[in-house]
Amino acid sequence: MQSQTAFTHIQILQDKIPYPLQGLAKLAVNYWWNWSSEQLSIFRNIDFEKWEECQQNPVKLLENVSSERLAQLAAEPEYCQQVLNLVTQLEQYLVTKNTWVDKNFPQDQLQKTIAYFSIEYGIARSLPTYSGGLGILAADHLKSASDLGVPIVGVGLLYRQGYFKQQLDSTGWQQEIYLDYQFEELPIELCRDTQGEVLTVTLQIRDRQVKAQIWQVQIGRIHLYLLDTYREDNEQIDRWITGQLYGSGQDTRLAQEYLLGIGGVRALQRLGIEPQLYHLNEGHAAFATLEIARQLMESTATFDEVRPMVRDRCVFTTHTPVPAGHDIFSRDQIAPYFTHYWQQLGLSKEAFLDLGNRHPGKDSWEPFNMTALALKMSRSANGVSQLNGKVCRQMWSCLYPNIPVEDVPIGQITNGVHHRTWTAPLIANLYKHYLHPDWADRVTDTQIWAKVEEIPDDELWGRHQRLQAALIAYTRLQVKEARERRGESSEAIAAAEQLLDPNILTIGFARRFSSYKRGDLITYDPDRARAIFSNFEQPVQMIVAGKAHPADEESKRIVQRLIEWSHHADIRNRLVFIEDYDMHIAQKLVQGVDVWLNTPRRPHEASGTSGQKVAFNGGINCSILDGWWCEAYQEGVNGWAIGDGADTDDTESQDRADAESLYELLETEIIPCYYDRDSAGIPHRWVQMMKASIRTIAPYFNTDRMVADYVNQMYLPKHEVSKRAKVGMH
Ligand SMILES: *Cc1c(COP(=O)(O)O)cnc(C)c1O
Repeated sequence: MQSQTAFTHIQILQDKIPYPLQGLAKLAVNYWWNWSSEQLSIFRNIDFEKWEECQQNPVKLLENVSSERLAQLAAEPEYCQQVLNLVTQLEQYLVTKNTWVDKNFPQDQLQKTIAYFSIEYGIARSLPTYSGGLGILAADHLKSASDLGVPIVGVGLLYRQGYFKQQLDSTGWQQEIYLDYQFEELPIELCRDTQGEVLTVTLQIRDRQVKAQIWQVQIGRIHLYLLDTYREDNEQIDRWITGQLYGSGQDTRLAQEYLLGIGGVRALQRLGIEPQLYHLNEGHAAFATLEIARQLMESTATFDEVRPMVRDRCVFTTHTPVPAGHDIFSRDQIAPYFTHYWQQLGLSKEAFLDLGNRHPGKDSWEPFNMTALALKMSRSANGVSQLNGKVCRQMWSCLYPNIPVEDVPIGQITNGVHHRTWTAPLIANLYKHYLHPDWADRVTDTQIWAKVEEIPDDELWGRHQRLQAALIAYTRLQVKEARERRGESSEAIAAAEQLLDPNILTIGFARRFSSYKRGDLITYDPDRARAIFSNFEQPVQMIVAGKAHPADEESKRIVQRLIEWSHHADIRNRLVFIEDYDMHIAQKLVQGVDVWLNTPRRPHEASGTSGQKVAFNGGINCSILDGWWCEAYQEGVNGWAIGDGADTDDTESQDRADAESLYELLETEIIPCYYDRDSAGIPHRWVQMMKASIRTIAPYFNTDRMVADYVNQMYLPKHEVSKRAKVGMH
């Protein structure tokens, strides 16, 4: 059992912080601060520069800020009152018995724990446990689960170096930088037993006993447990199992997934947590099902006997819409890891490897597929948008040879975003004023969102413009620093101050660079794109960000081509790349752009969520009809659709047609609408569309709705479906 001792960070910080501000220590160790503007500013206001220097990590900030500054703040009654209020708010938040779950599922089975497994979590900039959309989704899931009172715990890995940091050299080629994070400086705590000893789990990996320790992260009401093998008593090579996210070779990846799945189940047991249900987010954690089976078999049952019991305890979310994207390991790779394991499960090597086979009964030549394992061992499964669900049913019908494709048991729950995290304070305050003081708790109520129409155009536009100005200032600073680092000329460095213009239509494009996302589709016809960007009367500018996977040369080349294109004299100030895309840059971008561009090759975008963040801030989407946008798009109302949503295997002609469609939309609809102004400079038609974007997207594409869908469709036992409850209605 875990001891109930408080975070040691709290004690250390409280020794340093003057009495009236002691509450800051409590706020610093719960990522709850991350999801509202007021909470954020409490730390930012201590020392803005240090806050940024410390990667927005409140523990590090409080450790590094001077005692004089703290004494100064302690003498400001207003600031002290703010701290007190927030601590009271947090304490109430933590103990309230008035959540959505409390109200709708009294004494229900839901009161027991659900364990959520994911290989990445994008909780805040300071916690290096994510790379992209999968991690953001997992963290937004936990944040909304906390808000709704869903009894969930998260399980993941803590990476010594996180994902890489991106820098571009002077030719636009991506360089990867790896830094060691200092875990002692993070708002996380090692789990210990009642004697104060660090809790560990031991696993047999590559013929050695490897020990993993467990870190606890507090996310509102929810605990997230992260496993870490960086311990003195492990061999060097085993310490680096949790060295990097998606960084190392296939063998380390297999070790990571072994640790996540099998180590994760053992860690929960070690902590005295008995989950009633396991939710596997993507195939990475599928080995968890084997460990659940092994534990159930300890009471002398056979694997076949416990298999239905395992299935009854597991649900699975699949994201990847292409066979090649799935997590697969060769049989030769898998075998050494599991020799002792299939014996314990009472299985032959063949029977064991068959669990990861896509074509049951066929000769076993296929690699071991983690999605196949997860599907076979889960009671229900879902894709992450309507279209993705359909694609997944087709792709996996091979596992269910005797039933029609439409009956393949994979459903869908469309992804959303945690609106409290992603909505700019300036805009949230408008919602508070014009929609409802509790708009965030009632986010699924369409009647509240209808009141967006009551916001005066100039007010919404004015706030949007302020956010855009902030984004531009931020972008200039990032570029300036990058140019300084590259040792560029003083003219080039000074010129960064002139980049971009707040009076020009601003397109944002930021996501992982991966060839299916076609980050350079906008420059498909370089001359036509140049003409659009450099149009004298009605120009266009674009801010781009995103990392290519270190091994993905093709995508690095896409980044480089974009940069090369932007060097043309006509558009020198009009396309800017921000290096090292992360959550913080994402926040700035989604809150400040006019148009959010997304150009995936359909149907490769499982859902996508960044465009939903944009909508909460009044930005407008222009996207291929793929992922979530198929469901949200209303023609002529809330945004633009590139192409006609048809599927073709001929990528060359698809790229050409989609680029043509994008240019035409820009030239005939988007640009004229943006520059259609009244005498005061307000683009009323544009603002109308901003409002439609908010009104039609916000009530559905949020994680409160999404988590409620998971509760109703996946978490509730099948015989309890009559208990399904709507969320956000009062
Ligand atoms: C929201 C977000 C994503 C997901 O973006 P999509 O491409 O829309 O899936 C990726 N990275 C970061 C940093 C994000 O904030």
